[in-house]
Amino acid sequence: MPLLVVEDNAVLAGSLTKGLREDGFEVDAVGSGVEALARLARRDVDGVVLDLGLPDMDGLEVLTTARGRGVHVPVLVLTARDAVRSRVMALDQGADDYLVKPFQYEELLARVRALLRRAAAPRWAPLTCNGLVFREDDLSVEIHDARVGLSPREHALLGFFLRRKGEALGRAEILLQVFGYQFEPGTNLVNVHIANLRRKIGLTAVCIETVRGVGYRLRAAEPGDLRAEVEPDPPVGDA
Ligand code: CA
Repeated sequence: MPLLVVEDNAVLAGSLTKGLREDGFEVDAVGSGVEALARLARRDVDGVVLDLGLPDMDGLEVLTTARGRGVHVPVLVLTARDAVRSRVMALDQGADDYLVKPFQYEELLARVRALLRRAAAPRWAPLTCNGLVFREDDLSVEIHDARVGLSPREHALLGFFLRRKGEALGRAEILLQVFGYQFEPGTNLVNVHIANLRRKIGLTAVCIETVRGVGYRLRAAEPGDLRAEVEPDPPVGDA
């Protein structure tokens, strides 16, 4: 199935399409949000490269609408250099990754390949931990019977932590196993996704704790975790 490139700049859309085709991808390109949503409604694309600055609607709105309609394919967002806020919002609304314009084609190619590798990875049996039930099939998690929706990347991240429950996992391993990167992309992608995930799942079932100097670890939550969230850690050496 093709990749969908959503980009209103005809020159950029043309060069992306040409490059990706030369690298073996089937590519469809559209230049507006309305066309993108119509194309995604057919549910026959493998991934999306989505420019946030579209003439008819905000790319974020395209993303939110598509995710709301159950479109779960990986999305790489293209943003303007200074749009930090829109980048954070895009990840929060379900983008899997972003690339800041201007970018090198090779960088885009590496990221597209990483996204598709991850999307093609095999699914695993449902996982549970301390009142949390991980849904493999619908991008959600149940926490004490309450359903919480996750973005595709948060879902993948939580699944990875659950399979490796109790282990301290480094950023490099998370980037490789969850994001498909064999290199540090020079972003705080992992931190941002973990912060969003923590905010969504709370501390009543599991806790993703920071392991200083190592990375992160998921374990069953304890009553003290909720207190620790409101009470600062005591100074070192204090009884
Ligand atoms: Ca644009």
